[in-house]
Amino acid sequence: MIDLLIKASYFAAAVLFILGLKRMSSPVTARGGIVWAGAGMVLATLITFLTPDMGNYGLMTVAIALGGIIAWWSGKRVAMTDMPQMIALYNGMGGGAAAAIACLELLHQAGHEVVNTEVHILAVIGALIGTIAFSGSLIAFAKLQGLMRGVIRFGGQQFFNLGVFVVTVGLGALIAASGDYSITMLSAFFVLALAFGVFMTVPIGGADMPVVISLYNALTGLAVGFEGFVLGNPAMMIAGTVVGAAGTLLTQLMARAMNRPITNVLFSNFGGGGSGDGGEVTGSMKSIEAQDVAVMMAFADKVVIVPGYGMAVAQAQHKIWELGQLLQNRGVTVKFAIHPVAGRMPGHMNVLLAEAGVPYDIIFDLDEINNEFASSDVSLVIGANDVVNPQARTNPESPIFGMPILDVDKSRNVIVIKRGQGKGFSGIENALFFEDNTRMLYGDGQKMAAELIAQVKELG
Ligand code: NDP
Repeated sequence: MIDLLIKASYFAAAVLFILGLKRMSSPVTARGGIVWAGAGMVLATLITFLTPDMGNYGLMTVAIALGGIIAWWSGKRVAMTDMPQMIALYNGMGGGAAAAIACLELLHQAGHEVVNTEVHILAVIGALIGTIAFSGSLIAFAKLQGLMRGVIRFGGQQFFNLGVFVVTVGLGALIAASGDYSITMLSAFFVLALAFGVFMTVPIGGADMPVVISLYNALTGLAVGFEGFVLGNPAMMIAGTVVGAAGTLLTQLMARAMNRPITNVLFSNFGGGGSGDGGEVTGSMKSIEAQDVAVMMAFADKVVIVPGYGMAVAQAQHKIWELGQLLQNRGVTVKFAIHPVAGRMPGHMNVLLAEAGVPYDIIFDLDEINNEFASSDVSLVIGANDVVNPQARTNPESPIFGMPILDVDKSRNVIVIKRGQGKGFSGIENALFFEDNTRMLYGDGQKMAAELIAQVKELG
């Protein structure tokens, strides 16, 4: 009876995970999706306590309470701009947990005859993948948190990494082949897998970290799925497989958004295009006053607002939407254009605009809006830089050459709100700021948006 209850609950949890994930595919239902998946996780965790012949209830309760409190506290505290490193850290914990399960199983097995060969092999594969995802994610966290700057590269690095990988897999194969292995050999296997995760991640630039985190997320899912087989736990098998599949798809989508094959992200430098600093950009930047921008926008037919990382820093989303509504009330068509890698995490801008209450039907993805810039009177760029740099289209020497960008330079007028001469994430100059149809409105995003609101109101 209890067995049936446990199986039914795991099944219900798996359904909740899948439906939750489905709901996350649209911003309208995403919040609910998180709750559904969370409910599945609570159910799966609670029902596990009823597993017959299980012990260590005290330890499990302390671990869950500790983990829960730390996650609750850090989740509440984290700034939206720090979300990517938070995800990297949590993802690393998932990979580490899967590797720890495998480690215990393999420790018990050492020196004994293997009864179930398939499960033993799965434990080794899960251990390898989970350990790499663990150490790789921690390096990704350190890079995004600014604890580790730049990339570490040296001649023959790819061959060195390949060598470490081959030796690690070789050791894993020996361990998987029979139970006749020593603790020293097992330790060497885990140390090498940890090292490989580090070696693989240190040469990759910070701008590629979201793609890398997404890849490690897929690996963590797979590792959890494999360990689900080891423990005979269907909830882990299904959740792991779902995360593995979703992570793989997200990795592909993000690599495509940057127009780069995943091999290029892993084995090349940011941008995949030229390796220079983007080359010289000639001309001068022309500044403008808020009053003139207000007139320009208030009497326009169509205004496209392009938010970027700076809007997140300035927390200007509420003010920008207030400005958008003022313009709408004057009969101006207002649209928001979102680049897939604007900000510092996938969906960053969507989350901020949703928080400010911007209706989803006036928010457009790159593919949907790019043809519309040519017919826009004003493009208002707020805190975006790399994602609107026309050199990605025109300059093969630019490190971001080939990355699809929002074609704001094709608008009749471009207004850029930013504080000064600060570069974007890629650290290169932006040719857009020097174009004849571009004017710079210097200042903090929120302050400038407030000033524009005041000026548009003045116009009556
Ligand atoms: P960028 O990082 O290219 O540029 C942001 C701009 O915002 C800066 O030039 C800065 O200029 C300005 N800014 C900063 N603070 C403020 C403020 N308070 N008010 C107004 N402006 C401000 O942002 P984008 O969104 O255009 O591009 C994102 C970049 O990040 C891409 O290169 C992408 O590859 C990378 N990336 C994306 C991730 C993702 O998943 N979305 C994750 C990690 C990296 P100034 O200092 O002069 O104000």
